[in-house]
Amino acid sequence: MEKVAVITGGTRGIGFETAKLFLENNYKVAIFGSRKESVDEAIQKLDKFEGKVIGFYPNLTVESEIDDAFSQIQNKFGRIDVLINNAGVSSNTILENYSQREIDNIFNINFKAPFLCCKVAVKYLKETKGVILNTSSMVSFYGQKSGCLYPMSKFAINGLTKSLARELAAYGIRVNAVAPGVTKTDMVRNLPDNMIEPIIKSIPLQRMGEPIDIANAFLFLASEEASFITGEILKVDGGIIN
Ligand code: NAD
Repeated sequence: MEKVAVITGGTRGIGFETAKLFLENNYKVAIFGSRKESVDEAIQKLDKFEGKVIGFYPNLTVESEIDDAFSQIQNKFGRIDVLINNAGVSSNTILENYSQREIDNIFNINFKAPFLCCKVAVKYLKETKGVILNTSSMVSFYGQKSGCLYPMSKFAINGLTKSLARELAAYGIRVNAVAPGVTKTDMVRNLPDNMIEPIIKSIPLQRMGEPIDIANAFLFLASEEASFITGEILKVDGGIIN
């Protein structure tokens, strides 16, 4: 029986690489993206997996839209085994400069969306003794010099992970997070060089992470090999100590 994974922010970067890796490892995959165009584009890039991958673009802050997408996935694939809360927005704004719009966006995508996706997914995951995986960040351990709402949201992701690991263990559901270091995606390309360069210099393995490094960690944590691991925040960051 092929397992089914739902990946938010699956249209590019870490989420897209994770979708591809799960498909290559005999999962069926549902990708969530923010817009129809980006979802269609991602599905097109995965055309060799036709019939095994579908895309949706629910508003991740509206429970009924997420609910509708999950019931369509259940109807099409017959089960849901893994939820990967990966969509996220970063920030390097200094405290005084935060606009209401940016505050709301970070709260909506980094806090509210993963919470609501867990809330909707749990009834399906109870059936399959499934797995929730969250995308945290190295900044969830260290904070960062500007853009405090981003680490604040990732500390919250760790809290969600550890709390749901306790709450859902009774149903056989495992909940873990991966905390990527600096990883080569659009998110990092948009940050200023003066923020990235000192970080790379401090990585013992002397390179940035690739999206596949993070995808491999998700695949492991979703697998039977990780069946005794829950409530863990797995650092995948080249050994960085900030
Ligand atoms: P990315 O910018 O390439 O991808 C972000 C994804 O989030 C996209 O697929 C996008 O569609 C989705 N998203 C953003 N806003 C959305 C919205 N309003 N509605 C729905 N989806 C939305 O970045 P990435 O690096 O692949 O980031 C993936 C995750 O990894 C994020 O949670 C990020 O915080 C985390 N992370 C990244 C790094 C890094 O260095 N790249 C480091 C630590 C953690």
